[in-house]
Amino acid sequence: MIAPRTCPICDATIPPDVRPEGTSAADRAFPFCSERCRNVDLLRWSQGKYAITEPLTPDRLLHELGDDPEAVEQLLARESEEEGD
Ligand SMILES: [Zn+2]
Repeated sequence: MIAPRTCPICDATIPPDVRPEGTSAADRAFPFCSERCRNVDLLRWSQGKYAITEPLTPDRLLHELGDDPEAVEQLLARESEEEGD
């Protein structure tokens, strides 16, 4: 006997006739019970991704530019020139 598959998001039992190779809405949501739960999973992934992505702070920018304060100043000067035009 095969154990019933359950939705990884809400633990709802997924009907045995739902298959990843199918074409119905339920099939497309596989392995989740519904489109909604699939979106919840996507959202969790994207939030996790944002959590490990460092925001672009001046310090971070400095690091990216190889700790060269002049490069940062030039970059900021260029930006303010464009704004003032
Ligand atoms: Zn679900």
